[in-house]
Amino acid sequence: MEIATTMVILDALPNPVLLLDSQKTIVAANSAAKEFLGAEIEGRSLAIALRHPEILDAVNAVIADEQKRQISISLLASVWRSFDIQIASLTATNESTAVAILTMHDTTATRNADQMRADFVANVSHELRSPLSSLIGFIETLRGAARDDVDARDRFLRIMDNESKRMARLIDDLLSLSKVEASEHILPDETVDIFELLAEVRDTLSGRAAERHIDVNLPTLNGKYPVLGNRDELMEVFLNLIDNAVKYCPENTSISVDIERISRIPDRGGPGIMVSVADQGDGISAEHLPRLTERFYRVDKGRSRTMGGTGLGLAIVKHIVNRHRGRLAIDSIVGEGTIFRVYLPSEENTEATLPS
Ligand code: ADP
Repeated sequence: MEIATTMVILDALPNPVLLLDSQKTIVAANSAAKEFLGAEIEGRSLAIALRHPEILDAVNAVIADEQKRQISISLLASVWRSFDIQIASLTATNESTAVAILTMHDTTATRNADQMRADFVANVSHELRSPLSSLIGFIETLRGAARDDVDARDRFLRIMDNESKRMARLIDDLLSLSKVEASEHILPDETVDIFELLAEVRDTLSGRAAERHIDVNLPTLNGKYPVLGNRDELMEVFLNLIDNAVKYCPENTSISVDIERISRIPDRGGPGIMVSVADQGDGISAEHLPRLTERFYRVDKGRSRTMGGTGLGLAIVKHIVNRHRGRLAIDSIVGEGTIFRVYLPSEENTEATLPS
């Protein structure tokens, strides 16, 4: 095949490909390689275009006598990126002096996903280990020193009860998260009236709110506010948001829940319904806001634990809202309070897109 035909084929490939001669000069580069390494790289030495000792070693070996070499390296483009690079030997022909072909495969996304999975497992283990250690400790104490101490036994059993419930909540939240993640690209198909749903959420949380003397105020509305959704999942969204407001606000404050029809959902498009949950708590400072929906991210770890938090609530909320092609926005003023806004596409919205 002529070199011109070969280049048409190589240009159609998504990965960078370089053809090298025996002096390690780049004889030809496909479009993806030019995009990554610069439009002018043909005719240059590989040592200048891709300054990396491991790549040069591998190319030298293939030019000398090896059939193929594969290496994994990190390269600094605008950020660090990981690549699997393969160098294979070619036979020079009358048309081409190329003796090696170098292909690059960007593995950054896979590596990041692997890292995230590893971090997640480490986090889950850590979160389960602390209540478990506390249970093991109390069981030992109850068998030994506190065997005949009735008061201590009651106190320890109460703590053990809390710790085991915390583990159970954590496992429930983990299952919930994995269920939502698995169905994130399937559009929900029930008609859910948001106003009716919010009234049910308020009733479910009325006991907890009353314990802290917190009023949960819903607007007085007429008519229906239907969205295309999954009822149980939307229930979980608003239970989490209103429960957080109850948990993180001082006693004797109030929470305002509002519903509004809007003509365009920011970033997603099309008409929708916006629900806001505003509290009068301490607020959250700006540097925490972008990370709040990460799994296990808490502003104040101790406080979240004391309140029985798992650190997964807002991660679940975000995934559910994404699945509904909606949007979650958080605004907060330290010392005044926080407002969570959930935008959901209304039934007739065919425009809203899934987040990329
Ligand atoms: P948790 O189980 O810890 O409540 P979430 O994912 O629901 O986990 O929330 C993450 C963190 O965001 C919480 O630990 C808390 O620091 C903060 N947070 C959530 N809601 C509020 C709120 N209404 N006011 C102040 N901080 C909040």
